[in-house]
Amino acid sequence: MSGGRAKVLVSACLLGERVRYDARAAAVRDGHLERWLREGRVVAICPEVAGGLPVPRPPCEIQGGSGADVLAGRARVVSQLGDDETAAFRAGAERALELARIHGIRVAVLKERSPSCGSAQIYDGSFAGRRIAGEGVTAALLRQHRVRVFSEEQLEEADEALRALDGQPAGGAPASRDDG
Ligand code: SF4
Repeated sequence: MSGGRAKVLVSACLLGERVRYDARAAAVRDGHLERWLREGRVVAICPEVAGGLPVPRPPCEIQGGSGADVLAGRARVVSQLGDDETAAFRAGAERALELARIHGIRVAVLKERSPSCGSAQIYDGSFAGRRIAGEGVTAALLRQHRVRVFSEEQLEEADEALRALDGQPAGGAPASRDDG
């Protein structure tokens, strides 16, 4: 496969798409992001919408662990109304991974603190606004397949990672699962 500009998977809400639970966006105005768009690097996804959830929707949080625990069946994603939405979150994560495979993506920039997209922090499952260290379901699945996941607070680092990949063979699909 020939080299070229490495692509980047980006949370759709960061690009201004009104896909959040409250039907709002979380648009980021940033020179790196705008240049990636001009360069045709950006592949957008909202994992929760891709997993079948509507806009708007009740907010969800992970209860009993972090994204990797959800993938391992040790934790679940629950809406503020008490509905178990784990299956939709897992489906959305799988769709994100599929897009990464299709585009040979090794770098993602995902919205921090989301139960799907969070990469360093999530909420603790109590719906009391308490943050804990952890990652969302999509971030966890991408990392299990060796995609580097950054947040909108780490655009400089993500840009460096993309530049390091430029000109290298895309390498096809991210490596197969390494979590057994
Ligand atoms: Fe944004 Fe991710 Fe939430 Fe979709 S799932 S609204 S892309 S943070």
